[in-house]
Amino acid sequence: MNNMNEAESIFSGTKGWEKLRALIEAYRNAGIFILVDENTAKFCLPVLLEKCPELGNSVVITAKSNESNKNIAGVESIWRSLAKGNAVRNSLMLCLGGGVITDMGGFAAATFKRGIDFIHIPTTLLAMVDAAIGGKTGVNLDSVKNQVGVFNLPKAVFIFDTFLETLPKRQKLSGFAEMIKHALIDSPEHFEKLILLNSPEKICNDANILESVLVKVAVVNQDPKEAGIRKALNFGHTIGHAIETYSQKHNTHPILHGEAIAIGMICESFISLRLLNFPEDELRRMSGFINWHFPHYSLNPVIADELFSYMYQDKKSFGQMQLNFSLLRGIGEPAWDQLAGEKLVLESLHFYTNLDAGFFV
Ligand code: NAD
Repeated sequence: MNNMNEAESIFSGTKGWEKLRALIEAYRNAGIFILVDENTAKFCLPVLLEKCPELGNSVVITAKSNESNKNIAGVESIWRSLAKGNAVRNSLMLCLGGGVITDMGGFAAATFKRGIDFIHIPTTLLAMVDAAIGGKTGVNLDSVKNQVGVFNLPKAVFIFDTFLETLPKRQKLSGFAEMIKHALIDSPEHFEKLILLNSPEKICNDANILESVLVKVAVVNQDPKEAGIRKALNFGHTIGHAIETYSQKHNTHPILHGEAIAIGMICESFISLRLLNFPEDELRRMSGFINWHFPHYSLNPVIADELFSYMYQDKKSFGQMQLNFSLLRGIGEPAWDQLAGEKLVLESLHFYTNLDAGFFV
């Protein structure tokens, strides 16, 4: 991945549409492909085509929505569509969708003919603030999330809050979780702002989204390949990914990525309290805030062993005896490569389970 400042390639608003039109002009003769899923084909593609009429002749590739389709078979299908549409090395792919589309599309583009250019136009709040930013692309392998992939930055990312008008409330909440994470690793002021706004609906505008995006960009610019500070972005994810994987496997209606990360942030703040003296009043306040907004997920103690097996498979763990976490010393003070044993992790799951759903001051 090159070391460009990603902030310079992120655009929004009216200027964003102008920039997008200018960018695609350069690829007009080499073939432009638009990757969508069935929902973004219905809700977002008409908006894009209206704003950029020159895309009328591009090839639309439809991938199946949902995390369960973010796998190598999904990528293979995209590769075949690119080949069938005669894509060449200097063709362009626009990824118009949520994190499943940006992760899978980015990976398909990065590997087709050893790499064609791609642009992300995220259409979920989660993809806007997180998945489309930072150059991580990839797919799940069996039950392990994001096991196969490459680092590769898109040519540009376009944030248009207009796409959020059709996004279901629950999906907005899922993105809100990653905004909370960015605020928690950024500063007490940023977190206070979210508490005052107090609603994923009120937060869905370009300015608030860009503020969150810039937290991630600042971290990624310092450490593109996740050798150090980028690991701070994994706060909430060691436990969150395990719960997400468990739910994907066992629940008819699995919880969403952000919903799982929200639980992970509560548990990992508890671990932060024990290992790094994260202040108890902050723990009560942030877990009360998250628990107020997000649905409670039942963590029956019998599932703990299965959760641990996913945590050990997670890329963030070392060996088999201890689990590796990205934690907080305080709000705005991330600390990564922190090791915790199973006993403490179990206590954190109990802490979450016993939270009073009505408690938030
Ligand atoms: P998603 O892509 O599955 O989208 C959620 C749902 O919303 C889908 O059904 C989609 O079709 C629909 N949708 C999308 N835009 C819409 C719109 N504007 N109106 C109506 N419906 C719309 O899920 P997501 O939450 O966006 O992304 C989750 C994925 O992102 C996970 O696979 C996760 O691993 C990945 N992720 C990647 C990174 C990264 O750095 N690469 C970071 C965070 C998350």
